[in-house]
Amino acid sequence: MGARDLRHVVGAGLGAILLLSCTTTGGDARGPDSGSSSGFTTRYEEPSAADQEPATFLRNRKLPETAAEALNTLVAPDRQIVLVSRSCDGEGSAYDPQTRHIELCYDDTAEDRELFQKAGHHPADDEAAAIATETLYHEAGHALIDLLDIPLTSRQEEDAADQFAALMLLRTGPTGERQLRTAAEAYELSAAANTTVDTSGRDEHAPDLTRAANHLCYLYGSAPTRNQDLATTGRIPSMRAIGCGREWAQAHTAWMARLQPLLRKQ
Ligand SMILES: [Zn+2]
Repeated sequence: MGARDLRHVVGAGLGAILLLSCTTTGGDARGPDSGSSSGFTTRYEEPSAADQEPATFLRNRKLPETAAEALNTLVAPDRQIVLVSRSCDGEGSAYDPQTRHIELCYDDTAEDRELFQKAGHHPADDEAAAIATETLYHEAGHALIDLLDIPLTSRQEEDAADQFAALMLLRTGPTGERQLRTAAEAYELSAAANTTVDTSGRDEHAPDLTRAANHLCYLYGSAPTRNQDLATTGRIPSMRAIGCGREWAQAHTAWMARLQPLLRKQ
């Protein structure tokens, strides 16, 4: 998940320009795969030769389509936000506020699969799918914060985007719970693989291990009975586990309050 993090740093400032320059298909958000002119839609760009496999995987699993549908079930934004799957050549998945594109990188999905394969998971299809889905929801959190013009510091926004990813996954019940658990594991694996600590101060995200712990706390706080092992094995420290129900309730309430203007009328 390292590449994704890097891209956020880039996307936050100077990179907005770089981001635009590497978006090869121009500003027209409506592609052959998108269904309507508002809300979350999807589009696939032609993958590079190296990215054929992850591109086929994302298409076959319909991961962007499924995420877009889940997002559109919750909210009804009056603008179009396009989930663009594309080859990013290592730049990392990101949300681009200039184009309102969420860019999901084929190469990130390949990297995520490799991360899990190195940890002994084969073929790691479900793991790769979980991380792509969590990434799409994290970036959708950025898109909604942008659309709602919510004033947050960079770090607050990153934490809120992680909480939005948790919210979307937890809305889908046990499958989403498994995917949130997998996302936490990816942060743990990523932390173990990246032993050098970034001291540049350029990464707005919490450290990977903190992000893993937060996801696990939200998971446990949301569904303690099904995830009892997280507390009993000490994966969540007992002092924190006690408060996870409250932590998750606060994060969930904060997001539902923010989303109020966009919530789809049931
Ligand atoms: Zn982010």
